Amino acid sequence: MKFDIALIPGDGIGPEVLDEGVKVLEKLQHTSDLSFNFQEFPQGADHYLDTGELIADESMDELGEFDAALMGAVGDPRVKPGVLERGILLKIRFSFDQYINLRPIRLRDSKYTPLKNKSPEDIDMVVVRENTEGLYANSGGFLRKGTCEEVAIQEMVNTYHGVSRVIRYAYEYAVESGRNLTLCDKCNVLGYAHDLWQRCFQDIGEDFLEVKKDHVLVDALTMKMVRNPEELDVVVTSNMFGDIITDLGAELQGGMGMAVSANINPEGLSMFEPVHGSAPDIAGKGIANPLAAVLAAAFMVEELGAEKEAAKIRAAVDRALEEQQLTADMEGELTTSELGDFICSILE
Ligand code: ATP
Ligand code: MG
Repeated sequence: MKFDIALIPGDGIGPEVLDEGVKVLEKLQHTSDLSFNFQEFPQGADHYLDTGELIADESMDELGEFDAALMGAVGDPRVKPGVLERGILLKIRFSFDQYINLRPIRLRDSKYTPLKNKSPEDIDMVVVRENTEGLYANSGGFLRKGTCEEVAIQEMVNTYHGVSRVIRYAYEYAVESGRNLTLCDKCNVLGYAHDLWQRCFQDIGEDFLEVKKDHVLVDALTMKMVRNPEELDVVVTSNMFGDIITDLGAELQGGMGMAVSANINPEGLSMFEPVHGSAPDIAGKGIANPLAAVLAAAFMVEELGAEKEAAKIRAAVDRALEEQQLTADMEGELTTSELGDFICSILE
């Protein structure tokens, strides 16, 4: 199987960790029948400061030709917060209509969770987050701005189209993985928006009677994630709630150094990335943890249909955890590239 992969290393530690993800994929080429054709895209802070361009239309057209994209991180202290994120990351997400944000929360080794007495079997869930609507639609405005009577309105946009497609995806995911499905919302307060979510969840559920489903309010879900994570399998939720609960999930499964995310368009270009940002405080020091980028590469390989190879990469990561071959953030002594090399040595 041959795949064309777009690489967007971005800023800060983005290029450092992505290099290790690519190193691992290159290793995989020698030990499996997978082959990759990589092309790097320069978009990020330097490119923006040099050219004034975030991402050109031609680059977007070009990106559309790839089988998948792998990203490092964007964000740089020299650029106003949000400019690169909105201009590159969100631009790609919206233009390619990557309406699903898939975030596995999977503990790989009990040592690395802050929860007492929880094992990898207990912390193993997937959040399916709506990725293009809700509070991220940034719709609203100011009334009487700058006065003591100011009203700032932030509207939550939920369309039948947007809600039903993410819920349908979540049901399909639950069927394929043979797992239960939980709807996470706040329907007791958000009487319009989450009324629509409730109706879609029930109606679409009629097509998936084999799926065991339940409903948990978002506040109760945060408690459940900490107390009884073993009760959660697949959770479908709105954009903002998904953002928040997946950060909680990232910590439960071992911290930002291990958390991955996929922006998925099931019919088009999907983009895979570590959840962490560009971490300018540690950029250039060679100490960034590359495991999230390596696991993002594994996630991509899995979504491209090579499940066995993805499992091989994950098993190599497990060996690193077991043998404490880790970077400083996880109390190890390896540099970013030494950890990448270790993963590759396991793949031999
Ligand atoms: P964003 O604004 O996108 O969240 P950020 O620059 O705030 O990005 P984060 O990724 O959120 O950075 O990380 C916060 C801190 O966690 C970083 O400043 C860094 O110290 C640490 N950190 C993040 N990722 C890693 C990593 N891969 N390895 C080691 N430390 C990391
Ligand atoms: Mg941050």
